Formats: sequence, C-alpha cells, structure tokens
Amino acid sequence: MQKWVLFFSLILTSAPTYLFPQTKWRENKEQALIIVDLQHDFLAGGSLAIPGADEAFCRYICALKNRARRDGLSVIATQDSHPKGHISFASTHQQKPFTTIISQYTKKTQQLWPDHCIIGTKGHKIAIPLVKEDIVIQKGVDKNYDSYSGFADDGGKETKLHEILQKRGIKFLHIVGLATDYCVYHTALDAIKRGYGVNIIESGCLGVSKEDSIAALNKLLELGAMITREPRDEKAKYKVEILDGGDRPIQSIKALRQVKKGLGLTEALKMVEDAPSVVAESIPVAEAKAMKELLEAAGAKVRLS
Ligand SMILES: [Zn+2]
Repeated sequence: MQKWVLFFSLILTSAPTYLFPQTKWRENKEQALIIVDLQHDFLAGGSLAIPGADEAFCRYICALKNRARRDGLSVIATQDSHPKGHISFASTHQQKPFTTIISQYTKKTQQLWPDHCIIGTKGHKIAIPLVKEDIVIQKGVDKNYDSYSGFADDGGKETKLHEILQKRGIKFLHIVGLATDYCVYHTALDAIKRGYGVNIIESGCLGVSKEDSIAALNKLLELGAMITREPRDEKAKYKVEILDGGDRPIQSIKALRQVKKGLGLTEALKMVEDAPSVVAESIPVAEAKAMKELLEAAGAKVRLS
C-alpha cells in the first residue's frame, strides 16, 4: 500500500489526465454527486478565494452536475453557512487570518479564516444553478463550532446528510468542490467512516495548498477512496500563448528558443520547449493559469485565450 501511495503522490503533482481513470457512473440511484461549498466567497473575487476557482471551474462542475442528474444520481450541494462572529473568523478573535487559536469549545486547534459565507450575503450563495430536486446541506451554522465536513461539525452535531443518503439508499458518493485539503477532505473522510464508497473527482476539486491537497488525496486513497478525473468541456479550456515584444503570440519552438535567449527565460520556458504542444493547445483552466504564473515568474509575457 505504501509504495502505491508514494507512486500516487508523485503522479498527482504533475500528472497528465490519461494517468487517471475516467469517472464511471452508470444510471444508478444508489449513487450521489456531492458538490462541496461551491460558493461565491470561495471563488475568484470572494473573501476566501481558492486558487483557480473561477467561472470556468463552475461551468465544469455544472456540466458534471447536469450529467449526474441525467443519469439518475442524487445531486447534493453542501453550503458553508456561518452567522456573524463565527468561531472560524479571525475577526471574531481580533487575530490575523490564517493563524490559529485553541477553541474553548473543542479544546482543539481552530484555523482562522477571513470572514466568509455569512448567511444572507452574496458570498454565501451557491454559485451554480440548482433545481428543486437537488438537496442543499448547510454546515457550520453553530457560531461556536466549525464544520469542514458536510456530515457533522467539530462538536459532533450531525447535519441531515447521512440521514438523507440512508433514506435514498445511496451507497456511493462522487465528491467534487472546494477545498480539496479542507472541506472535500473532511466530507470524504466522514463518508468513509460512515461506510460509503467514495470517489474523488480530482479534476473537480481545488485546494488551498497544493502540498496539503496531495497529502489529503493520498490519505483518502489509503483509506480506500477512488480518485478519478473527468475531462473538462471545451469551453472550460484556455490556450496559453507566449507573446513577443509586440504582443504577437510566439508558437514555434524556434521562436521560443529565440525568446529564451532574448529574455533569459529559464526553467519555465524549458518546460514549454520540452512539451511544445501545450503552447498551442487548449488546456484546462486551472492548469493554464498555473502555467501562466510559472512563465510570468520566469519573465515571459503570457496571454490566456
Ligand atoms: Zn467556513
């Protein structure tokens, strides 16, 4: 098991899509798609934006959701739902976000965040359209307890999620959403503890920290979860173009070599040169953005289109 996990942690860092099995769900009422915390505060422009969580990501999740519903799966969205002055807000304790305190209620470490997902605000709203058949599970509603998991809060108080799944005879959960290393992880962990089969659709999850996300997925894998990827639809892809001084895209390897000399681009450009197809091909939004960042850090002028 250990070797397999190590192997997986290596491929998770930079794996091309084909290394992951594609998600398979047949028409099956015993399965559900769980969409974790796809709310405006966790998206670009929100108070606690997760890197890469943008409109294109939402469209992708939306497409997955529509497919799941068409195939007869239950669609369930969790919604982080806090009152003002929630224990997880740094402002509640006059502390800085991303520091920690010891909770007087759980006696455990509580990570502090910027104010987010306050009930009644735009940031609290789920960012994709849902229909009346879909189920929304609010979590984190108790001021004194945080709740990364969609099943129960840190004080052990259960949401309705387990009960609803049981009533519907659901045995297997496909999980997507935000953030891989927090709410996706804890929801999946609690699902496994309660006896559900779990598949994390990795391409539908984004994390706060890349390292922590890899560790979280490895842990879930070790506990028996599956991890799959789903190709994104065409609209959710960007073309990465490196521009020359006159803002013209440079596509050929030859041109890239010249840019490399002229601008002194280093490792990042070498990477593109070694895999030239990524320059012209459309790639998933999150990957495109990561590549843009990398190239810009190396001094290149980059456009996503
Ligand atoms: Zn929260």
